[in-house]
Parts: sequence; C-alpha cells; structure tokens
Amino acid sequence: PAPASLPVQTPIQVIVRCRPLLPHEVAAGQRSVVACRGNSVFVEPVHAYQNPRGFAFDRVFGPTTTQQELFETSIRPLVQHALDGYKCTVLAYGPTGSGKTHSMQGSRPLCPGMMFESVAMVFAAAPSAHVRMSFVEIYNEELLDLLDESQRRLESAPPTSTSSRALQAAARRHGVRIKYKTKPPVAATDGVNDDEPPPKLHIVRHPRDGVIVHGLQEAPVASAADVYALLEAAIDCRQQSATRCNKESSRSHAIFTLYIDTTLIVGGNTVHATGQLRLVDLSGSENYARAGGCKARQVEAANIGQGLLALGRVIKALVEGWRHVPYRESKLTRLLQDSIGGATMTTLLLAVAPGDDSLDETLSTLAYAQLAQRV
Ligand code: ADP
Ligand code: MG
Repeated sequence: PAPASLPVQTPIQVIVRCRPLLPHEVAAGQRSVVACRGNSVFVEPVHAYQNPRGFAFDRVFGPTTTQQELFETSIRPLVQHALDGYKCTVLAYGPTGSGKTHSMQGSRPLCPGMMFESVAMVFAAAPSAHVRMSFVEIYNEELLDLLDESQRRLESAPPTSTSSRALQAAARRHGVRIKYKTKPPVAATDGVNDDEPPPKLHIVRHPRDGVIVHGLQEAPVASAADVYALLEAAIDCRQQSATRCNKESSRSHAIFTLYIDTTLIVGGNTVHATGQLRLVDLSGSENYARAGGCKARQVEAANIGQGLLALGRVIKALVEGWRHVPYRESKLTRLLQDSIGGATMTTLLLAVAPGDDSLDETLSTLAYAQLAQRV
C-alpha cells in the first residue's frame, strides 16, 4: 500500500546544469554562448542581429555549481522521499560530453556525483535500513546486469588486485552472490571470461512489485562502503567496455537503483513500504538524430534513438494527461514504467555544455525539456 498521500500525478521537475568550458576547449578558442541567470538559461543567437533565446526551468545551475550544491538543492529531497517509502527518479539527459556522467557518477573521493552522495545520505539517515541495489545498462535494446558483469570480470582478474579484493570482501560480508570459478579462466585476450554467457534479463510486470527485471541482481548492501565497492567495480567495467567498443557508454543508458525497505507509522498503523531511488545516466542525446554509415550502426542508432524518443513521448503523454501513456515502445520506457509518472517524483536533469561548438545540441536539449515543462 502507498504509505501516504501524494497527488496521483506529480509534476516532473526540470533542472539544468551547465558545465564550465573545459581547459582544452578554452585552448581551442571556444567561447561560452550560454548564460545562467536565476532559473533561466540564455543562449546566444547564431547571428548578431538576433536576440538571445531564454528558457525557464524549475532550477538552473551554472558552471560554478559544485556536486554538493546540486545534491543539497535538488537531490536530497528525493532521497528523503525514497527513505519515506516513495519512488523517485532522476534522469540525466544531454549530448555526449555535456556532463551527465560527471553529475550522476562523478568520482570519489574528490568529486562524488549524485549516486555516491545519495548512498551516503541513505546510510547516514537510516544506518539500519534494509537496502538493496541494482545497476543495469540498456544497450541496443538489450539489458546487461552491470553487477553481474563486473563480478564476472573481477573473478577472471588477478584476485590480488585492490578492486577485486575490496569487492570480494564486501560481497562476503553481506551475502552478495559471487560465483567463484573452480578452475582458472582460460586465457582470454582482454581478461574477460567468455565461456559463460551472462544470464538473459527480461522486463516483467509483477502483480505486487510492479515492473521488475527478471534475473537482475538486487544486491543487499549494509553500508555506504559496500555500495561504493560494488558501484565502482561496475563503473570500471562499464568504462572498460566503453574503450573496447568505441565509446559504447555514450550509446547506452545506465540505470542505478537503490531499494529501501522501511516501516512507517501511518494513522497509528505500521506499514511496510519499499522506497526506490533510481538514477539514470541516459545515452547521449545526439545519437537520437544521428544514423551512421553501416547497417549495424543504423540499427543501433535507431534503437538508441528509440529509447530517448519513446521517453520524450512518455513525458509528453504524462504532462498532457493522455489516456494511454506509450510506455511499451522501448526497453527504457518499459523499465521506467513505474519510475516516471504516477506518484513517482521525477527530476529531469539537463546537462549542457556552454561552448559555441555545442550550440545546436544545447538548443535541442533545452527544447526536448520544454515537453516536460508545460504542467
Ligand atoms: P557525458 O557523460 O554527458 O558524456 P561527462 O560527464 O563525461 O559527459 O563530461 C565530459 C567532460 O566534462 C568530462 O571530462 C568531465 O570531467 C567534464 N565535466 C563535466 N561536468 C563538469 C563540471 N560541472 N565541472 C568540471 N568538469 C566537468
Ligand atoms: Mg557519460
């Protein structure tokens, strides 16, 4: 049962984060064509005689914004909601290089992104909560369990490596499933043991639990350190495959979820609820328009575009109150079916690069979000 009353339809919050120009962009002579003032973004016109174009959002974060400010202002309330038994989702949208992964993952310890900040808050606020995590990637309309995948890789890596040891210790302490190999893996060129294919994942509708991914690991985690170990191993694994397959990560969606089992007192009754916090690093939005040369790339571009396109249609349907919300048009929207809309608090985080080279992509990113703004 829903723990308390939220309006059936909560509006989608849209926030913007514009990153600074990077040193190599400055060196290459790029200039910033984006200005953040109050809760508006102004984009310099292409021609001198035009006026700057302004876009208003729920909240705008300029280039000097720190990870902590972003978290405290916009993400902390969602994590609190998840702790209270609700579902909350953050979707990071924008072209490759605009700062989606920086905001969502960042890097520990100096610049932790929203995933790490959220985990820290959950365990600080509710040290004895029962928490599970999952981390799944959608690439080319296929689901990949990043926890499973990183464990498979670490098992075939030298067991003395620091990340392997930290992961295995964390996993042992808390009963996370790790399949130890009895014989050493056959020498695979890239350190990956390919003899056992990863299990197939299926999106299914469960009568009680809603939309779930059948076969996806939900690892019980008992401390922030445990989540960090699992998360960092999965992130490494995602990045390794990215270099292997030519920036694969910009063409995949990564969906990190924390499930928090809580007991609440509602009207004098004890109610069990599972809060859910979902942080999604979407594929680069430029893929959605771009269809490459060869056939395989075209199929891929169509698939990737399909996810973001379908997401746009779902958001539009929710905002305009269509009777039928077209969730079934892509894996992404099917998986997110009960993570956007309804009583879920959803935040769309638009990542924007300020340089003049990114002007077109910046304008199309800001325009995509206008879909969600009309409430
Ligand atoms: P995306 O995931 O959208 O492709 P990234 O998060 O990888 O983009 O960011 C691209 C580059 O910009 C990275 O080198 C990242 O470190 C840097 N960057 C992104 N956002 C910021 C920021 N707010 N401050 C400083 N550097 C940033
Ligand atoms: Mg990225």
